[in-house]
Amino acid sequence: MSQMVNPECYDVLIVGGGPVGLFGAYYAGLRDMRARLIDRRHELGGQLTAIYPEKWVYDIPGIPAIRGKVLFENLLTQIAPYAIPVSLSQEVVLIQKNRNNMLRLETRDGHVYHSKTAVLSLGMGAHIPRRMDVPGLREFEGRGVVYGVHNLPDFKGKRVLVIGGGDSALDLALTVMEVCKDLILIHRSDRFNAHEETVKKLYSSNAEIKTYSELAAIEGADVVQRVQLRDSRTKNVTIHDVDVVIVAIGLIFNLEGVRDWGIELESNAIVVDHNRQTNMPGVYAAGDIATYPGKMRLIGTGAAEAMQAINHAKHYIHETFPYL
Ligand SMILES: Cc1cc2nc3c(=O)[nH]c(=O)nc-3n(C[C@H](O)[C@H](O)[C@H](O)COP(=O)(O)OP(=O)(O)OC[C@H]3O[C@@H](n4cnc5c(N)ncnc54)[C@H](O)[C@@H]3O)c2cc1C
Repeated sequence: MSQMVNPECYDVLIVGGGPVGLFGAYYAGLRDMRARLIDRRHELGGQLTAIYPEKWVYDIPGIPAIRGKVLFENLLTQIAPYAIPVSLSQEVVLIQKNRNNMLRLETRDGHVYHSKTAVLSLGMGAHIPRRMDVPGLREFEGRGVVYGVHNLPDFKGKRVLVIGGGDSALDLALTVMEVCKDLILIHRSDRFNAHEETVKKLYSSNAEIKTYSELAAIEGADVVQRVQLRDSRTKNVTIHDVDVVIVAIGLIFNLEGVRDWGIELESNAIVVDHNRQTNMPGVYAAGDIATYPGKMRLIGTGAAEAMQAINHAKHYIHETFPYL
């Protein structure tokens, strides 16, 4: 494949334009660094736009409650004064270090970028929702089976089943409850892996909560019409009429490409030090993709990591390229 080399040498290339990459780009602008943002998707926003634009987010300092899509718009407004160039639909497939310490990043479609540093804010790599091996699930994908809430009005007046017991499932259930007719949430145990406040809200809502319950089958004609639910203790199966099944049992990490970059990984995440630097000097990681003891996968922690990474990148550039 012919290569399209961008002649410009950046101070920092930010790979991944989710909330963490966007905030990192803003911070690079604030620190007067020449930056570019690259994302494999056709739009920025990461999980905010891909999975939960309609969901309320409650844990951003100074913002009591904000929908995912509005948080994304605010991030774009925040970044706008710095006019950071953006490359969309470009997946970074290779990062190499040249002999002069410069980084060379290559995308799947043959674009080549050079930079002094890079911040990897890849999230979970590709967003692949975790699926279950249940009759009807694949068959009804896009015809009633969904993995996120993109447009709240689509759920208006619908009977909804939500599957999952983590923050994502409970958050999506509470979001959809604003407009749907009725909602069942099933979870395979009676212990929810979610914030206490969210669990309280769910129990005080009109949702029917079925613990020790699992999906046995999805049935319908053109679209989903009903589901079979199995009690995991008694094995009793009950049938429920539903229009939509939201599967929120987690996302699968896809770091296939990253494995070849020589960057240390641990449990499907990139290992970083206290400066959020990887084992490759000048290459940092922030957000969901970064791991260290005590790591929490949240927008707030990711944003803090992006600031740490950018601050250290600035310092690294002064030390490593004093004449550039
Ligand atoms: C349903 C749900 C609800 C949530 N609710 C909350 C909440 O209320 N509060 C909260 O703080 N957190 C919440 N989270 C978690 C939060 O969304 C994540 O912590 C956050 O999105 C991480 O941001 P990120 O930028 O690191 O990754 P992402 O948002 O995943 O963005 C990563 C970006 O990198 C791009 N990318 C990946 N690989 C490449 C590559 N090789 N080349 C180029 N681009 C690449 C992807 O396309 C993507 O756009 C929730 C998550 C889910 C699923």
